[in-house]
Amino acid sequence: MPNENEYKGRCFCGAVELRVVGQPAAMGYCHCTSCREWSAGPVNAFTLWPPSAVTITRGADQLASYNKTEHSHRKWCKKCGGHVLTEHPGMGLLDVYAATLSEFPFAPQLHVNYGETVLRIRDGLPKQKDMPKEMGCGRILLTD
Ligand SMILES: [Zn+2]
Ligand SMILES: [Zn+2]
Repeated sequence: MPNENEYKGRCFCGAVELRVVGQPAAMGYCHCTSCREWSAGPVNAFTLWPPSAVTITRGADQLASYNKTEHSHRKWCKKCGGHVLTEHPGMGLLDVYAATLSEFPFAPQLHVNYGETVLRIRDGLPKQKDMPKEMGCGRILLTD
């Protein structure tokens, strides 16, 4: 039965598909060096979900994983190299990249790790120097 708050996502080639249900715990943009170097893009648009809200519906065996640190297990499709999600065990949340969820109404609430930004975005949203406490670390507000 289709659920109103259910959205499908997929990797670049479609070998990996997933489903999210409900509402994310947080949504926004991450400016950290790790996201930048791994994604090869200046900013990462994230949606954070409890693991129970996320189901890999196709191609789970196609997902590869790399963790440079204990905090982030980054997963991508072995076939196309497309990034799919990141597990954050410390936070107990999964970041399903906003770009993975093409039909999800992405509504960013804040910018995190703005202290490491290479692309200033003057959109009036709160700018956290690092990660907000509820997402794992301290919080200092920066201006955009
Ligand atoms: Zn793929
Ligand atoms: Zn990041």
